[in-house]
Amino acid sequence: MPGRSARGILDRLKAGVVLGAEGYVFELERRGYIKAGPYVPEVVLDFPDALRELHREFLRAGADVMVALTYYAHRGKLKDVGRENDLEAMNRQAVRIANEVAREGDALVAGDICNTWAYDPKDKEASSQVVRAMYEEQLSWAADEGIDFVIAETNDYLGEALIALQVIKELGLPAMVTLATTRPHQTWDGYGYVDACKILADQGADIVGLNCDRGPATMLPIIEQVRGAVSSYVAAQPVPYKTQASMPTFESLKTADGTNVFPIALESFLCTRFEMADYARQAQALGINYVGICCGGAPHYVRAMAEALGRTVPASRYSPAIELHPMIGAKVEEKEKEFLVDWKG
Ligand SMILES: [Zn+2]
Repeated sequence: MPGRSARGILDRLKAGVVLGAEGYVFELERRGYIKAGPYVPEVVLDFPDALRELHREFLRAGADVMVALTYYAHRGKLKDVGRENDLEAMNRQAVRIANEVAREGDALVAGDICNTWAYDPKDKEASSQVVRAMYEEQLSWAADEGIDFVIAETNDYLGEALIALQVIKELGLPAMVTLATTRPHQTWDGYGYVDACKILADQGADIVGLNCDRGPATMLPIIEQVRGAVSSYVAAQPVPYKTQASMPTFESLKTADGTNVFPIALESFLCTRFEMADYARQAQALGINYVGICCGGAPHYVRAMAEALGRTVPASRYSPAIELHPMIGAKVEEKEKEFLVDWKG
């Protein structure tokens, strides 16, 4: 029975929530395989086992999609770090590794394209050609290696997102296109986030929504409006940080003394796994179809989100059993009790 069509993203979305997992670049930076700043995924070629392992951890945590690590593996970014000659090899290898691990379970493989920093609304025609060529080369290699659909993500400009959508559709693949939300209400080319999603859906995007920048608290109110405005599938992939009305994006988070913490001192703002589980439940209740996580994401969050959606996943075998903890569990022995100091004293 299940042939390739049974692996299709649209069939799965029709059947229920698809759980996504991203944050590869941030996590592999923390592990010492990607340089913060340029954030080019050199790990794909330099330490493929490290990438393979993180894919596997997300798979075991319940991710339904292995997203090929081609975020920032485009011509502009590779030029920045002097590795333009590795462009094709990096893109092909990323998709190959995603496929390899996807087949250890039952996951789909997504090709991935993103913000290029080459798009310029003031020089729309010429810059659009540059962007289109970057997407075309990346996705032709990805399609050649085998992908189920494409995620075009972290789009600051609706104009750039529409180029991505067009290139994906020309390949005949399902398209998920999500916007970045660094500004209060609008894309960098001046479209309200909800309107921009509506335009993308009207132009044929199968899945529209938001990723990155905002934590659950400041993304969910916008995504709820998107849900109300479009009839396509909707995706939400927030960052696991405690953004709030006064600091709605992780780029705007500051400590009490006014120090900016983005991008490598964000830890004090991390959500707990329980907060990310709550987010997954809330997103599902709002009718969000693709529930995922972006920068800051890690396997323990994804497992908590999967379990919040009612799933038992391979890594659930090692899910917490705090009742067995010798100091705070259900049966703490007398000789251990004395160590539970009441510091309020
Ligand atoms: Zn992100």
